[in-house]
Amino acid sequence: MTHDCLFCKIIQKKIPARIVHEDDDLLAFEDINPQAPVHLLVIPKKHIATTLEIGPEDHGLIGRLFEAASALARARGIAERGFRLVMNTNPESGQTVYHIHLHLLGGRPMHWPPG
Ligand code: AMP
Ligand code: ZN
Repeated sequence: MTHDCLFCKIIQKKIPARIVHEDDDLLAFEDINPQAPVHLLVIPKKHIATTLEIGPEDHGLIGRLFEAASALARARGIAERGFRLVMNTNPESGQTVYHIHLHLLGGRPMHWPPG
């Protein structure tokens, strides 16, 4: 299936990205507008528009998404200090790309509550 989707184009290598991890199911790359010293996006290769479209068939995939994000946090040396994983859903959350992506943010203290 083809989607007119920015992140699907990155997966297909039609748009360049600074890729930091790739396997059969997942891709991770540097966010183009980083909000912290470490700001990676971890995405499934399967096009899922928002968290609202995650189904039972995706349970393994979503687990691997979190596992990959944590492995990347370890690899970047921010696991012990701490980091934040964020997935925005729909406009009021700030979602701008409608292909689910887990933000991995770290390397500085994070504020709570988020803005
Ligand atoms: P969100 O606002 O949660 O949907 O997050 C979308 C993220 O994608 C933002 O942090 C953008 O900076 C990032 N982004 C947009 N276009 C690109 C791109 N071509 N390569 C890497 N990151 C991007
Ligand atoms: Zn997509």
